[in-house]
Amino acid sequence: MPDFSQPLEQYLSRKPSWLREVASQGVHSTHEHLHTEAQRLARGPDTALWLHHYLPTDLAGAGVSPEVLQQMVQERDRPPYIPLRELDASIINAFSLVRHTGYGEVVKRTASLFGGSGELTVENLASCIAGLEQRLTPGFYARECGRCGLLSMQTNSFDMVDGERLPVRREQCHSFHFKDLFIDGFLRWPHAEMAQQEKSLRVDSLESWEALVERYFADDAADCIAVKCAMAYARSLNFEAVEREDASRALDAMLAPASATGSTASERRAFENYGMRFILALAGRYELPVKFHTGHYAGHGSEPLHRIRNNLIDLEPLIAAFPQVNFIIMHHAYPYGEAAVTLAKSYANCFIDQCWTWAMNPAAASRYLFEFLLGAPANKLFLFGGDYACLELTLGHLDLARQGLCLTLERLVDEGWATPDEALELARRVCHRNQEALFPPLRHLKQASP
Ligand SMILES: [Zn+2]
Repeated sequence: MPDFSQPLEQYLSRKPSWLREVASQGVHSTHEHLHTEAQRLARGPDTALWLHHYLPTDLAGAGVSPEVLQQMVQERDRPPYIPLRELDASIINAFSLVRHTGYGEVVKRTASLFGGSGELTVENLASCIAGLEQRLTPGFYARECGRCGLLSMQTNSFDMVDGERLPVRREQCHSFHFKDLFIDGFLRWPHAEMAQQEKSLRVDSLESWEALVERYFADDAADCIAVKCAMAYARSLNFEAVEREDASRALDAMLAPASATGSTASERRAFENYGMRFILALAGRYELPVKFHTGHYAGHGSEPLHRIRNNLIDLEPLIAAFPQVNFIIMHHAYPYGEAAVTLAKSYANCFIDQCWTWAMNPAAASRYLFEFLLGAPANKLFLFGGDYACLELTLGHLDLARQGLCLTLERLVDEGWATPDEALELARRVCHRNQEALFPPLRHLKQASP
């Protein structure tokens, strides 16, 4: 039974026992960008880290200048860890504008979990440092995940080597910490020098490109739990079928020396279209589910809604063309997610992932889950992925997602759509059973699901 702190615990104290049982379900996280435990321990009890990642984007939206925000997120790797109190007054004032957004809520709940109160203030975050210092010892990940009922994590690493993200993180992950095979570098060719060096393969033709990608699958698929694609940040998701010789010509143009004419946008697109379908066929052969980023862009100052709103329309032909591949629609294409319910209803190989969504907008995530439960089969959704690099923030996010799940199922029962027993069964599905059905490595975890 997870040891909940405020405010979920406070909310549950007034609720019937079946809802407490909903909240006690262990949860598999299907999407993270977590540091390794060694990296986290090396950073020390720096609670300024909790102000990283997503909160700055809300603050930027509130009008805090990028230069001032830079002061908040800069690395502070030496004690004392609290130049927090030196934060620019405009940041501290802007806290009041974001304390009720999902991102603000995650930071408040994180503080609650680590000895502070549910306030978004510099003083509160500073008060957590001593408690965090005591906890930050080897075994931190296993202990904290156990305390909060997080059964496993799947990480798409942000780690960079010489300015490039390698497709697979090399460090050993824990037995409950899995990794994704990140494919964007294969498609945004010819940028991935590191990948070529790592496999001692030089790409000078489509044939050698195919050999490199095949090598990654052959060497690493058994070590990975899924394939991850974030190409929606760079282009539309309509990867049309392209003849091999057209893709070959396109890649030749892309690989031509800088002195040559160079490749055109349509050639690069032709190569990416071919490459994506080549990779999907491999994912099917190696039985790796494929996760697609859809919807809202992380960061601030760029939100091309015309492209984003078409993510699901663009993706549907691929889902139809590769019935042997399981597609995961990450973030349910927020805020354009209704069509994902339709896709999950129609295609047996299409799943919806609520990763990131509780932090982005907890009210929208709860409404979405409610409509999903009445619109698509119960085995097609995963409740949670923290989508953070810092484990403490993922745990704060988990607290928020659990409360969202309880509120949603309470509504389902109150309105007469389900009995408490049926609602509890739905909770077991979206928290852990659905993940264990789609990702075989999760079935062998020592931590038994409740
Ligand atoms: Zn992410």
